[in-house]
Amino acid sequence: MLGWQGLAHRYAGGAEIAYDDFELPERHHLLLRGASGSGKSTLLALLSGLLRVQAGELHVAGTELQGLNPRALDAWRGATLGVVPQRLHLSDALTVAGNLALPALAAGQGADTARAAELLAALDIADLAERRPHQLSVGQAQRVALARALMRKPRLLLADEPSANLDDEHTLHMLALLLDAAEREHCTLVIASHDARVVEALGSRDDVVELSLRGRSDDGGSMASRLAGLGRDRTTFWSPGSLS
Ligand code: ADP
Ligand code: MG
Repeated sequence: MLGWQGLAHRYAGGAEIAYDDFELPERHHLLLRGASGSGKSTLLALLSGLLRVQAGELHVAGTELQGLNPRALDAWRGATLGVVPQRLHLSDALTVAGNLALPALAAGQGADTARAAELLAALDIADLAERRPHQLSVGQAQRVALARALMRKPRLLLADEPSANLDDEHTLHMLALLLDAAEREHCTLVIASHDARVVEALGSRDDVVELSLRGRSDDGGSMASRLAGLGRDRTTFWSPGSLS
């Protein structure tokens, strides 16, 4: 379903982020782990064709992304990907139904009201179609954002830090929604998270492959890992063993 060889990315003026070669087995989901700054969001942007492949090869859902021009990438993305954004990005100027129709309308296509109704029913929020986002609870808004991501029957569903800003209950709710939707819609999940709650909930499943990113190798890593390193040094310095 997806994999890469020799994949690396360098932002203008930044250090190179290199990714170890990887192949996701069929019928598995991917949990991307790694400290903040280790390259999770960059990898999601590469997987979704929002960043061009600069080095290496990357295939997603049967397509070699490094070979596509920007126009072909746009078409491929629309047909293949669903994205649950970190902030849910629902427009309060539109009803729930309007939010689901928006991506198709923006792409110059007709709104698929039957598909919207099917998804709202499957997610148990059929009665919310005419509400505005500010009239939804957090859990309901999560369902609407997921329904919108599924509108075009994606083969791959990406979620970047889906538990950011969520309490424990809503985190588990979001993960269950993602897993249920992936099973029902026969799509592959890619979840990026450095949240221990997400790792705990998904790590024990045998249909989830965990991949830990190391981050940049040439600058000692992110601020977070440098701070973790400082903590380690201090622990060593003050530990009873080191004084004896
Ligand atoms: P993560 O999602 O794991 O926190 P990111 O992929 O966002 O990591 O970032 C990886 C590295 O790339 C970090 O060092 C970050 O500062 C850098 N980076 C991310 N986005 C940009 C950008 N648009 N321009 C320059 N550097 C960036
Ligand atoms: Mg990120």
